[in-house]
Amino acid sequence: MNPTKKEFGAPILKIEGLGKSYGSLQVLKGIDFEVEARQVVVVIGPSGSGKSTFLRCCNGLETAEQGTVEIVGKKLVDHGKMMGESGLNQLRTDVGMVFQSFNLFPHLTVLENVTLAPRKLRGMTRGEAETVARELLAKVGLAAKADVFPSTLSGGQKQRVAIARALAMQPQVMLFDEPTSALDPELVGEVLQVMKALANDGMTMLVVTHEMGFAREVADVVVVMDQGRIIEAGPPAQIFTAPREARTREFLQAVIAR
Ligand code: ADP
Ligand code: MG
Repeated sequence: MNPTKKEFGAPILKIEGLGKSYGSLQVLKGIDFEVEARQVVVVIGPSGSGKSTFLRCCNGLETAEQGTVEIVGKKLVDHGKMMGESGLNQLRTDVGMVFQSFNLFPHLTVLENVTLAPRKLRGMTRGEAETVARELLAKVGLAAKADVFPSTLSGGQKQRVAIARALAMQPQVMLFDEPTSALDPELVGEVLQVMKALANDGMTMLVVTHEMGFAREVADVVVVMDQGRIIEAGPPAQIFTAPREARTREFLQAVIAR
C-alpha cells in the first residue's frame, strides 16, 4: 500500500441503471457508477454525450426515467420513481452545484449571494450565515469582495463566489459542470486552483471539464462518456496514456489539438 494514497469512505453517490430520454431521444442509456467519500471524479466526453444531463439527474434538476440514484443513503430516484418534493428539497441541500454560467443574483452583494440559501434553507441566522460566508470567501480568495455587487467582478471571481455559495450549504458532494468553459483563458487557473484546494480538503467532487491538466493532476478517477454511456473509467494515468477505447483516443486527440 502506498501510504500517501488517499483513503476513500463509503459511497456518497450511487447510480444504477440510470436512464433518461428527451422525447424519442435517449440521452442516458444505463449509467452505473459510484462516487466514494473524498473521491474526485472527472467526467469527460464529446459534446452531446450526456454529461450535463448525468449531473442534473444527480441533484434532481432533471427527472430520470430509469434506474436508481442514491445520495448519502437516500434514494433520489428509486427504480425510475422520483422522490417527493419535500424530500427532494432536503436532499438538494446535500448536493452543491456549480454551472458554467455563474447565476449570481445581480441585485445582491457577494455576501448576500452566499448567505441567502443557508438562511432560507438551513435556518441559519444572518449572523451565523455571515460568519460562514466570510470564511468561505476567504477560502476562495475573495474576503475583500464581500460587500461588492457581482457586476464589478471578473468571470473568475464570479465563479469563485458561486463555489463559495454552493459550499455555504455544507453539501456532501459538489457537482461542477464545465465551471471554467465560459471564462477568459487567463482566469481559468484561479478557479481550478480553488477546486484543487477543495479536493485537497477532502471534498467529494464530480466534475465535468475539458481541462485535462486538472483531470490528470486532481482526479482519482476519470470517466469517459460517449452517446449516453460510460465507455470507460480509470485512474487518469491509465485513461490518458493507455485508453482502452478507440473513441476515448479520438476524443483526447481532438481536445489536445484545440
Ligand atoms: P453534454 O453535456 O455531454 O454536452 P447534454 O447532457 O447537454 O450533453 O446533452 C445530451 C443530449 O441531450 C444532446 O443531444 C442534447 O441535445 C440533448 N438535450 C439536452 N437537454 C435537452 C432538453 N432539455 N431537451 C431536449 N434535448 C436535450
Ligand atoms: Mg454539458
